[in-house]
Amino acid sequence: MQQIEEFRSASERVLAWIEKYFRTIENYPVKSQVSPGDIFKVLPGKAPESAEALDTLLDDLDKVIMPGISHWQHPQFFAYFNANNSFPSILGELITAALGAQCMIWDTSPSGAELEEKMMEWMKSAMRLPGNWQGVIQDTASTATLCALLTAREKKSGFRVNDSGFSGLPVMTVYCSSEAHSSIEKAVKIAGIGRSNLRKITVDEAFAMKPDRLERAIEEDIKAGYVPLMAVGAAGTTGSLAIDPLTDIGRICGKYGLWYHIDAAYAGNAAILPECRPMFDGLEMADSYVFNPHKWMFTNFDCSLYFVRDREALIRTFEINPEYLSTDAVQVNNYRDWGIQLGRRFRALKLWFVLRLYGLEGIREKFRLHIALAQYFRDQLQNHGAFEILAPVSMNLVCFRYRPEGELPGEEIDALNARLLRAINAGGHAYISHTRLNGRYALRASIGQTNVERRHVDVLLDELTRCSQLLV
Ligand SMILES: *Cc1c(COP(=O)(O)O)cnc(C)c1O
Repeated sequence: MQQIEEFRSASERVLAWIEKYFRTIENYPVKSQVSPGDIFKVLPGKAPESAEALDTLLDDLDKVIMPGISHWQHPQFFAYFNANNSFPSILGELITAALGAQCMIWDTSPSGAELEEKMMEWMKSAMRLPGNWQGVIQDTASTATLCALLTAREKKSGFRVNDSGFSGLPVMTVYCSSEAHSSIEKAVKIAGIGRSNLRKITVDEAFAMKPDRLERAIEEDIKAGYVPLMAVGAAGTTGSLAIDPLTDIGRICGKYGLWYHIDAAYAGNAAILPECRPMFDGLEMADSYVFNPHKWMFTNFDCSLYFVRDREALIRTFEINPEYLSTDAVQVNNYRDWGIQLGRRFRALKLWFVLRLYGLEGIREKFRLHIALAQYFRDQLQNHGAFEILAPVSMNLVCFRYRPEGELPGEEIDALNARLLRAINAGGHAYISHTRLNGRYALRASIGQTNVERRHVDVLLDELTRCSQLLV
């Protein structure tokens, strides 16, 4: 299948495969049931010398590859955070692949640059984000957070580290809560700050950062001769969707001159709901802000929206020739200079498809359903009696555990829940994951797959009852 004459029938077969996949997705075990190495050992050791037929390839897709797929688009996928796609985003992605455009600078893809700029404006308006922010689509929140840290580092050092390294500079420190995402620690390692200079601040009983502890840590560091560089506020922690006190952290960052980055990777999507937007008050104080439509907002991976207040500092950190001095007259963005990679995908196209084919109201309606289903799930667990809720349910994530009657030591409850998780996931009807909250093993259910309905949540409830009864 290499000629255009064959493309029509070949693509029709592939599209039929995709349609059948979605029609039958609920028949697959949600979590792949293979063992490590199973797929690798049945794949041939070498690429074929001569071209094969599409039919042979599609046969192997079904026979070899599909058993090793965990179905992230299965409505009974409740693990981690969702990484949703949708029919609009699949269509946009197909065309992105067809165009095969490199969106590194305006010249190489004018529509790539200008649609990206417009999509960031659309999202700012849809979520009431500050009008003076500028945005760029990154691959992941991890990359966005690294960009924030590198920009903060350059701004603080007068762009010296980029130029001549750290030599002669005082040691810089970074702050986040003990519940913050591991990507912050990774960024601190990569940016040359050093993991031992990351301060993990204590959280309160709702798993949100204690701002007085942040201020105290900054003051102690200043006294000890460190230079506090950046604080990260979590707007929706990965463990429990806790939201740090965004306004308090902003005030502290302003007082001590720290870069303020907000990581809203998952929960930030909910800012599109007027009734949820107040939870994000304080975000306007941020120097940088990131959230991922590729998690909850029906736009297939990768699509991470990164906003900054100081566009010049961002560009000056990443540009490879000091064009910014001479291109003041140019009215367009060269996104090569807004991040780490040179080559860039046309990510804005699938977001455009999603926003136009759902409409903001279509997205809001689905989010509201997901939040209502999470409340339903929480209530059902509470009525059940043998389960306890371990964190406030503010959006669509429920943290809970099995708690049989009688006095059991903490480790035994932890072990029971770990067994329960394995039993549920091995059953193939639902997929959940876990975290630790206050040192206790906690089960997590993220109720946000694109096509999830109440009947799917009921399957999880039934599985929890069935598998927990088998435990004792
Ligand atoms: C998922 C998540 C991340 C990482 O997102 P990537 O886009 O995969 O890098 C970072 N922070 C939080 C709070 C998350 O939930």
